[in-house]
Amino acid sequence: MNPQKALADAERKPYWLDRAIAPAPSPRLTGQVSADLAVVGGGFSGLWTALMAKERDPSLDVVLLEGREIGWAASGRNGGFCAASITHGLGNGMERWPEEIGRLDRLGRENLDEIEATLARYGIDCSFERTGEVRVATRDWELDGLDEEAAVGASLGLRMERLDREQVRAEVDSPTYLGGLWDRDGAAMVDPARLAWGLRDACIRLGVRVFERTPVMSLRDGGSLLELVTPLGAVRASTVALGTGAFAPLLGRLRHFLVPVYDYVLMTEPVPADRLAEVGWRNRQGFGDSGNQFHYYRLTDDNRILWGGYDAVYYNGGLITAEHDQRDTTFEMLAEHFYETFPQLEGVRFSHRWGGVIDTCSRFSAFFGTAYGSRLAYAAGYTGLGVGATRFGANVMLDLLAGEETERTRLRMVRRKPVPFPPEPLRSGVIQLTRWSLARSDEHEGRRNAWLRTLDAFGLGFDS
Ligand SMILES: Cc1cc2nc3c(=O)[nH]c(=O)nc-3n(C[C@H](O)[C@H](O)[C@H](O)COP(=O)(O)OP(=O)(O)OC[C@H]3O[C@@H](n4cnc5c(N)ncnc54)[C@H](O)[C@@H]3O)c2cc1C
Repeated sequence: MNPQKALADAERKPYWLDRAIAPAPSPRLTGQVSADLAVVGGGFSGLWTALMAKERDPSLDVVLLEGREIGWAASGRNGGFCAASITHGLGNGMERWPEEIGRLDRLGRENLDEIEATLARYGIDCSFERTGEVRVATRDWELDGLDEEAAVGASLGLRMERLDREQVRAEVDSPTYLGGLWDRDGAAMVDPARLAWGLRDACIRLGVRVFERTPVMSLRDGGSLLELVTPLGAVRASTVALGTGAFAPLLGRLRHFLVPVYDYVLMTEPVPADRLAEVGWRNRQGFGDSGNQFHYYRLTDDNRILWGGYDAVYYNGGLITAEHDQRDTTFEMLAEHFYETFPQLEGVRFSHRWGGVIDTCSRFSAFFGTAYGSRLAYAAGYTGLGVGATRFGANVMLDLLAGEETERTRLRMVRRKPVPFPPEPLRSGVIQLTRWSLARSDEHEGRRNAWLRTLDAFGLGFDS
């Protein structure tokens, strides 16, 4: 189908947020308040931090400040792959922290189990389906990567199943598939906006004071307390947790480690049962392909197909603006790839198209730290895999604020920072050269050019 025609009626907004069930926002902060803990940011990072702070100590006075609405940013507009991995995949974790990959993997899987238990505890209905995830190879050279990951998975005792061409096509039938690797326990599919709204409600029930449309404009040390200034008020707090994602950080040093990268998504109309039967997908897993530029896709509870990824875009200068949420060339390319993958779905149209910003760091997985004499903690850099991992990061922030040494805070991953990005304009040059090199590598059987090999040697990279 002609991509432009297939996209003609697609709304230019995130499907998940564009529904009548969206709750009315909480009030703005007006006036001065004080708190034991002020959490900045109402995405998953901030929500999990506020919720678990109250779970750890119900007497703690917790305030959550969100600049717009809860979940409006990455947290409410993502693919909804809630992965166990806290290292942006087993391969990335193995490469960077081989000596602690077993522990990182276990902590990630426990984190996913605890997310599932939390949803049950608070009755949060976000269509959580623990289907696992299948990574497919669509080019010969990608099969080696699946074999390597299967071997690492086997050494860690994971339930990972290597599927040959027929087996993977028996799950989901695409003529492009050459093989697959099904991590049966490693991911759940969620409705991310309903997860964010559900966490907000749970926070409020536990007594967190949530203020929306309340951007924190500045942060300063007011002696024994930290002061957060907002347009109509201020918070004086003993401790502060920053869960501000890709946005201009309140702590200047974070600028060196984060770049805002845009990722784009399409959503189809609900696919009628007889059409979906031509594809299969009875086990409803999340799917992703294996190139440097990869697609991710999954079913919703009403059998739409979310289809995203491939084109991770950095706009020179690193500006975050609503205009960048839309990119027609990327949408058309994604639509074309969709019909190549599923020719059976010819004629199925798209209902929504959108983009969102990702807090990318050079090691593709979150980093952590403290400031102001350990009265402030931060976690950022989830690089496109934070739906589940933000809960782990929230626990790290709470450990750090409590001054507790835990299994989490002892991790090398937690103690070390990523390699910083150079300042602009060098930053843009480096990132665009890396994007170009990654695309070329996919066209040349995964061979990495001298630039990518140099980055590999320094543990640097670029990803969505
Ligand atoms: C298109 C897309 C697809 C993705 N797909 C997946 C996926 O399938 N699986 C996965 O694991 N991850 C995915 N991700 C990444 C995932 O969404 C993020 O890692 C995760 O949501 C990060 O949560 P967060 O709370 O750190 O950031 P955000 O959700 O960005 O929240 C940060 C919040 O902080 C607020 N804020 C910032 N500064 C201030 C301030 N000064 N004052 C007050 N508030 C402030 C912002 O308004 C925002 O609401 C995707 C992301 C995108 C954009």
